Amino acid sequence: MSKVLIIGAGGVGRVVVHKCASLPNVFSEICLASRTLEKCDAIASELDREISTARIDADSSKETAALIRDFKPSLVINVALPYQDLAIMDACLETGVDYLDTANYEPKDVAKFEYSWQWDYHDRFKEAGIMALLGSGFDPGVTNIFIAYANKHHFDQIDTLDILDCNAGDHGHPFATNFNPEINIREVTANGRYYQEGEWKEKPPLQVHRSFDFPEGIGPKEIYLMYHEEMESLAKHIPGIRRMRFWMTFSEQYLTHLNVLENVGMTRIDPVNYGGQEIIPLQFLKAVLPDPGSLGKSTKGRTCIGCIIDGQKDGERKHYYIYNICDHQKCFEEVNSQAVSYTTGVPAMIGAMMILTEKWRGHGVFNVEQFDPDPFMEQLNIHGLPWTETWLNDKPNCLVE
Ligand code: NDP
Repeated sequence: MSKVLIIGAGGVGRVVVHKCASLPNVFSEICLASRTLEKCDAIASELDREISTARIDADSSKETAALIRDFKPSLVINVALPYQDLAIMDACLETGVDYLDTANYEPKDVAKFEYSWQWDYHDRFKEAGIMALLGSGFDPGVTNIFIAYANKHHFDQIDTLDILDCNAGDHGHPFATNFNPEINIREVTANGRYYQEGEWKEKPPLQVHRSFDFPEGIGPKEIYLMYHEEMESLAKHIPGIRRMRFWMTFSEQYLTHLNVLENVGMTRIDPVNYGGQEIIPLQFLKAVLPDPGSLGKSTKGRTCIGCIIDGQKDGERKHYYIYNICDHQKCFEEVNSQAVSYTTGVPAMIGAMMILTEKWRGHGVFNVEQFDPDPFMEQLNIHGLPWTETWLNDKPNCLVE
């Protein structure tokens, strides 16, 4: 029985709140806090049980610490934006409360994300006797746990890893992003980076692409090489991986719109003077694009996110594919959200459950692959994200080189 403070009332926040509220034995009291109180209240009104809500500016660690002192949670689940990670971690340190998030820290003025800023808190969290669990969404999150699971049960040595993130859904808009547009566009327009023989290699954004035939009737989709944060922590925690790549599907329509927006300067993150006022084009763009939280009703189709692993077991070479398929409309029926928010929010709830039930425990800052994957994998099957594992005869042709 534990109290939990959830920060962020966006697409992911809605799923986390619904899922935690459905498990009163684990999450005995819930407070949802975010920048806009009305959004918290709207989510609270969808539930069968009472939760409290609060307005908070989580950029201020003082405000967050004051709310923590008032509500007295055992854990803070941060599903606001990556910009708030450090301020919320500071508030947790000040008040001696555990912390969980789904995306690593990113400074507002540089489109760059890496774990160093948050890993830097390890000693301070350890000394305070509290824990931080980083990246407990789907990717990062479940993808890391899939790899820890494969490493524990199926391989003596993992050699290559390809993470494939496919959204085969359609939201019916000419252009929209499935999670926060600002964070999404910063990520997609960054250089493609991958890991090979202990080094990071870079390619221009979205230059490398292949066609991959996704399972269970989803079919062939174009996948694009991108940098994704889980590769940084996996390089540290799963020794000996020779090559790691991350691929994401995009429709031609999405890429055409993105190209135009980039070419006209709308994805810039430096301030521009407009009518005597400084505006950041990407933030303005976010304001005119559909709110990802509102896409649930119109989105149809499925997502398929998983890992293709090749390596050795008992001296034999093995090719293994583990994935989850999630249906946008089924998610909406259950929690009023599309599958991209759902696949992030459910693992955030399960990560919180792992901490509160002490299945995962430690003092310091941890990534999810550092803990036993088995209890988490079990809960995925129970709470709406069942997974499938298959052995392949060979590595798919498109991933050989
Ligand atoms: P949204 O933009 O829909 O929601 C973010 C919420 O945070 C909004 O309610 C927003 O308030 C609130 N917020 C923003 N700034 C502050 C602040 N200073 N103080 C308090 N609240 C604030 O984003 P998503 O729900 O789509 O994404 C949430 C997080 O999940 C992001 O960090 C994203 O990167 C991560 N994510 C992780 C994935 C994974 O698989 N690991 C996949 C997808 C997302 P307001 O409503 O007023 O704007």
